[in-house]
Amino acid sequence: MVGFTAISAKDKFDYCLPSNSSCWPSQAQWSELKSKISGGKLHDISDNSEYNKICDASSVDPSAAYTLEDKGEGRCMQYHDCSKEKCDDKAGWNIPEYSVEASEETDIIEAIKFANEYNIQVVVKTTGHNYAGASMGDGALLVWMRHFKKYGDIIKAYEKCSETYDAVLKVGGGQIWEEAYKAVGNDYHMVGGGGLTVSAAGGWLNGGGLSASARLYGMGIDQVVEFEVITADGSKVTASKCENDDLFWALRGGGGGSFGVTTSVHYKLHATKPFCEIIFTITDFYEPTWDTKTLVKWIGVLVDSAPTFDQKWGGYWTLNSGIFYYQGTDEELKKDEFLIKIASLGYIKWDRWNCAESYFAARGGPENMSTDQTSQKEFNIASRLVPMSFVENNPEKMKEILVWMISNGFYTFNYIIGGKMMDVAADATAVHPAMRESVFQIETFDERLIQKLRDELPDSGAGFNHAAKNEPDWENQFWGRNRERLETLKEKWDPENRFNCWHCVGYLAKSDAGSVSFSLIFYLTTLVILLCSH
Ligand SMILES: Cc1cc2nc3c(=O)[nH]c(=O)nc-3n(C[C@H](O)[C@H](O)[C@H](O)COP(=O)(O)OP(=O)(O)OC[C@H]3O[C@@H](n4cnc5c(N)ncnc54)[C@H](O)[C@@H]3O)c2cc1C
Repeated sequence: MVGFTAISAKDKFDYCLPSNSSCWPSQAQWSELKSKISGGKLHDISDNSEYNKICDASSVDPSAAYTLEDKGEGRCMQYHDCSKEKCDDKAGWNIPEYSVEASEETDIIEAIKFANEYNIQVVVKTTGHNYAGASMGDGALLVWMRHFKKYGDIIKAYEKCSETYDAVLKVGGGQIWEEAYKAVGNDYHMVGGGGLTVSAAGGWLNGGGLSASARLYGMGIDQVVEFEVITADGSKVTASKCENDDLFWALRGGGGGSFGVTTSVHYKLHATKPFCEIIFTITDFYEPTWDTKTLVKWIGVLVDSAPTFDQKWGGYWTLNSGIFYYQGTDEELKKDEFLIKIASLGYIKWDRWNCAESYFAARGGPENMSTDQTSQKEFNIASRLVPMSFVENNPEKMKEILVWMISNGFYTFNYIIGGKMMDVAADATAVHPAMRESVFQIETFDERLIQKLRDELPDSGAGFNHAAKNEPDWENQFWGRNRERLETLKEKWDPENRFNCWHCVGYLAKSDAGSVSFSLIFYLTTLVILLCSH
């Protein structure tokens, strides 16, 4: 563990909470705020008794994620446990007191001004997809962005900071990937998230933004030309490489919900190119044979190919399957070395092989692209980055770890990363430097597997967007050597820690308030004893 002392201006949880009537706003004061929000959309969401009824969505319903992010006046989380503290089903509720359903910048500004006046913590949410519950907060005022005004215009020959971009897409602070992809259609390629229901301008992006085409064009944060943000003092600012460049740096990897509320993002677009989507499973692993021979061979192919993966490859893999995207035509794909190695494994069932004129078309077109199902309880995801140097220098060890995983839990869902992501300097953005140096992000749903990876790769870092809700030493595992600068910038841009969310930069836990008062009691008791003894 790297020793580092947090330098946030506010270092204890001393927000006004509803239980403190001496500081908590009166009904009249909340009504006054309501009158300033467009359409009066300030919602009292403090009553949790109906949560399950209001936010119920079956996990087998493919539209559940859409439903959940739009309903419940902002209170619904995709992973229902995250409506509770630390995403623990048995813990107390962690739902904010009020939500401002923002549709205009002024709604956000009024909410922040109000929270500043009454010292209330602010949390931000678009879709509620965050696996660790970072878009929730007990006793907080929620800025709910999902119904914020939508943009979606493609701007050609866009000029910014003395550069001209062929085409950019302006995405609104509450929009989701489905909306962005539909706006772009087949006219351009856009680097975006795999799940259509994830926000395009919020947490996904602030966490770095992994994509099936990140190896070809870089991460989501590498596509941003500018952000528009409402900051903790209620100002509207632009952050780009020539305006507020330190905030621009922090928003690209420093995590959502802690430096301000993003109201729009201008994304670089790329020329459309042919792509293939291939999905396969390894069949001799299934009953009645249960033979892991091909799995072991698959791991061999994967690990041995990793150091020289062509940038044309991107996507996801598990211990017995692959969902890959290849930038190229069907003809080119068939000649590709990695593909030939996969095909030669035998026992491969090609579930999908679709080559088309663009990435979106290969996925079936924005209308037909599938999205992940959600609404699970107990969704215990955790992630670990695997450095390229480790795979290059210890390929047999890497294979051994993955083979161990086959017989000790098995359940993973992983990214191949690297490629163009590595062309950006490790300190050029706030994302963990390891993101720029790794070849795999392994995601597991089993405590044994993640612990194995933490033990084998103790300093390699966690993938922020898929991090465990209880990641040990989280500040260092999320940001590595970029952490110190992030905390300095938090102090600059949010000195009162108005934005406070679980495991975000500057996070203040309610228990800190407890430990502070405990220290105070201890101090006063000692003082009394000393005075009495004299
Ligand atoms: C179905 C699914 C598919 C996924 N696919 C991918 C993928 O392909 N690549 C990848 O990297 N990750 C992926 N993820 C992980 C995803 O990036 C994280 O869950 C992320 O936190 C979601 O961001 P959100 O804004 O949609 O969620 P939310 O829960 O609404 O917010 C997450 C965080 O961002 C903050 N935030 C949200 N909106 C704003 C805003 N407008 N301004 C400032 N802060 C904001 C919140 O305060 C919170 O801290 C996926 C997750 C799911 C559930």
